[in-house]
Amino acid sequence: LAPLDLFVIGGGSGGVAAARRAASYGASVGICEASRYGGTCVVRGCVPKKLMHYAASVPHAVRVARDYGWELSDPRLRWAQLQAVRNRETARLEGVYQSLLDKAGVERLTGRGRILGRDGDAFVVEVGEQRRLARRVLIAVGARAEQPEIPGLELAVTSDAVVEGEIPFPRRVAVLGAGYIGVELAGILNGCGAEVTVVLRGDQPLRGFDDDLRSDLTEQMTRGGIRMLPLTRVDGLERTASGIAVRGPHVPVEADLVIAALGRKPKPNTASLGLAELGVRLTANGAAYVDVGYETNVKGIFAVGDCCDHGGNALDGAGFDLTPIAIAEGRAFAERQFNQNPQVVRYDTVPTAVFSEPELGTVGLSEARARALGYDVAIYRTRFKPMRYTLGDHHRRTLMKLVVDRDGDRVLGCHMVGDDAAEIIQGLAVALTAGATKAQFDETVALHPTAAEEFVTMYQPAAS
Ligand code: FAD
Ligand code: NDP
Repeated sequence: LAPLDLFVIGGGSGGVAAARRAASYGASVGICEASRYGGTCVVRGCVPKKLMHYAASVPHAVRVARDYGWELSDPRLRWAQLQAVRNRETARLEGVYQSLLDKAGVERLTGRGRILGRDGDAFVVEVGEQRRLARRVLIAVGARAEQPEIPGLELAVTSDAVVEGEIPFPRRVAVLGAGYIGVELAGILNGCGAEVTVVLRGDQPLRGFDDDLRSDLTEQMTRGGIRMLPLTRVDGLERTASGIAVRGPHVPVEADLVIAALGRKPKPNTASLGLAELGVRLTANGAAYVDVGYETNVKGIFAVGDCCDHGGNALDGAGFDLTPIAIAEGRAFAERQFNQNPQVVRYDTVPTAVFSEPELGTVGLSEARARALGYDVAIYRTRFKPMRYTLGDHHRRTLMKLVVDRDGDRVLGCHMVGDDAAEIIQGLAVALTAGATKAQFDETVALHPTAAEEFVTMYQPAAS
């Protein structure tokens, strides 16, 4: 059997992007997927989560509609229907991913892949009963929810159950952890009508984000009806006659559903691939160390997406486990290997959003990070009641913040909490990628009346 040019293990965002791009340059490519094509993003991440975020925002939109003279009765959610239509859409997308691979001429296998070893200058990959030889193997197996040793944690579910599964509506929810997933699921379930408590060990949610955003979002989540329990240690979970109790020295919380949103790690996925036998170096979390071309220390073995260290860029704690990063890395790998194009991914202006209620969006450096890196920064900040809410009594506010380098005037970071933050920050990411200065923000004519125009009309620094 002639070796393939490339075999990809993992049919998620990174693996599919790499396989398709490589095949477009004439490479012979095979891919395997252990679960569902499309991977985390499509099946149990970004897409179903965003659909649920839209669903959860409806009661708020109805309240606002009443300010404008609409007569509307209180909305009632058919939770089972929401889960069914969401899953119908993700199944459709799964089919789209499969057909994109088929059209690209990629050989598509279903099953868990692992590398058995070498055969001459090729690697032997086993997928169930089948074997393939390949000159290059790309590891794109993603990450899985972390399950720290907390007694009774098996009583909790992970985001997979909420976002992919079909579960009864949980009237009382406890969310353990307040990173991206904890904050997003808290907002979604609160919007859908559950009583939500977020239990976090830190003083604020979303460690690593700008501190002004963290405190503002905490306040807005609280005013939106979510109970936040900061600095709270969880000693264990126990089933009670009426639910699940979250035990700890501070407050007992009882819930119908406990969601463990305590981080994600590649370890379980990369541990079973035969990488250790080949001598591939992994971080403590199980991510493969890769170079600028996404090659591991073993020639011919590559890794992209959540299961790699992003070429060392993730080592300082910056979170790059995002779909567009996995896709960009997959494509950059294929460009370098199959098109002699040494494309690199830019990690310094990666925009990211948390689909909380309201949304939080950010690109570039937080104030604390910029100061820690030695920048002398000027801070521009505004907080206001958006025009949309001026006819009614709503707690929703918008916070915008710019972090500017005093030497050179470069805008280092744009941060926002408020409606449409994700959409607005995507636009500003172009400006940051182009190296925009504060003077250029000021020169940009405002688009009126919008909330976004405040980003180009903050003339006075707020703090030194
Ligand atoms: P994955 O998409 O995880 O793909 C890996 C694939 O490999 C999986 O399908 C898995 O089944 C398969 N696999 C694993 N082991 C094997 C094996 N041995 N053989 C064969 N196949 C295997 N990111 C955003 O940018 N925006 C968001 O809004 C967002 N929301 C998210 C919400 C949730 C709830 C979660 C969990 C994640 C979210 N993410 C979001 C993160 C995003 O989903 C991931 O960063 C992205 O999917 C990573 O792509 P990947 O290709 O590295 O891995
Ligand atoms: P995060 O790393 O974002 O957050 C993990 C949370 O769990 C933090 O609050 C952390 O607290 C807490 N935690 C970790 N270990 C423990 C422990 N032993 N006891 C108590 N608390 C603990 O992970 P998520 O699971 O929320 O998300 C995983 C990744 O998925 C994200 O980093 C992101 O890359 C991606 N994602 C992206 C989304 C988007 O783009 N909108 C949405 C969802 C996920 P502390 O802060 O104190 O460490």
